[in-house]
This record gives sequence, structure tokens and C-alpha cells, in this order.
Amino acid sequence: MATNSRIEWTEQTWNPTVGCTKISPGCKHCYAESMAMRLQAMGTRGYENGFQLTLLPNRLEEPIRRKIPTVYFVNSMSDVFHEDVPFDYIEKIFDTIAKTPQHTYQILTKRADRLAEFFAQRSVPSNAWLGVSVEDQKYGLPRIDYLRMVDAKIRFLSIEPLLEHLGEINLAEIHWVIVGGESGPKARPMQKEWVDDIRVPTSPRN
Ligand code: SF4
Repeated sequence: MATNSRIEWTEQTWNPTVGCTKISPGCKHCYAESMAMRLQAMGTRGYENGFQLTLLPNRLEEPIRRKIPTVYFVNSMSDVFHEDVPFDYIEKIFDTIAKTPQHTYQILTKRADRLAEFFAQRSVPSNAWLGVSVEDQKYGLPRIDYLRMVDAKIRFLSIEPLLEHLGEINLAEIHWVIVGGESGPKARPMQKEWVDDIRVPTSPRN
């Protein structure tokens, strides 16, 4: 079943897949990896494979059973658009989302190219907010362009952990931005100016 979320900007998590593989510098101290290893050691159901990508079809209908309108963060322990999650399985995740308009779903990915590929042929349910992680210029910024290709009602960025100054950042058609540094004993430091410079440019006055 979904566990209570410790992420500040959501209410519940729903993990129809668990596990992942590292793809860019933002993954270095992945919270999901250490948590998955701990849950495996504790014998928690769903984590038998530790952090290896695992589909959990028995969880696909969890939100259908929940009647109270809820904000779900989808796959806090994985990445929906991971290359080992087949498109027909992702379709099942979005079928559940479409069938439960009482809920709002936040889906965050580092596989923005696959997100754009998936939605090139499909429409986004209006209760799905789609976002990409942006930790640096090289890996993070190109994800924003892929996100803009997708016709979601809400497109958001998780600029977390912010690892360097992002330089020019195009926030056109982006509706929500979360910014934060890394936490934990090995956290890489963040500088205040990097955050201050993430702004929507103001239009010149006539
Ligand atoms: S994409 Fe997310 S879940 Fe996957 S390894 Fe990176 S930080 Fe962890």
C-alpha cells in the first residue's frame, strides 16, 4: 500500500514500480536507493529486489480504492519513465490516473526524452502534473525542452539538488518550480546566488 509521504509538497506516495538506476549527477545520493536497501533488509513486501527496477502490478489500482481526494506523488521510489518500464505498463498507470479524477498526481522524471516520446501519441489526463528534475546545465536544462513538448495542464520543475549555477534558464510554459539544495551528511553545497538567479524574466514596460 502507499506509504505516507515525507515530501513536503505532496500528500501520499504511490509506487506502482520500485527501483531505478542512476542516470545523472543528481542521482549520486539517491534517497530511494538507500531507503530501498533498508526496506529489503527489513523484508518489506515490494522490495525483495532491493533497488532493482521492479514492476508491481498489484499496486496499479490502489488509488481507485481511495475515495478522499488526494495529491499523490507517483513513484517516489522509482522513475515512471525508466527505460525498463514498458509503455504498455505506463499506459496502465495513466489509465488509473484518468479513472480517478478526484485525485491529483505529480509525476517527476529524469527520463524526459521518454516522457515526450510516450506523450507524442497520447493525451495527458488533466489531473496529472508532469515535471522533470533539473540539477545542472548539462543534464538538467535539456529536460525542460522535452517537458515543454508535452501538453500537460501543469508542467513543473524540481530543481533539487541544485548543483551549480544554471545560467540562462527558459521558464516559458512552466507553471511551478521547486528549488532546493542537497541534504544529508555528504550534501554538496549550494550557493544562494544560484537560487536567486532562477527567475522568470520580467517583460520590459512600454
Ligand atoms: S532517477 Fe531518481 S530514483 Fe532513479 S536513481 Fe536517480 S534520483 Fe534515484
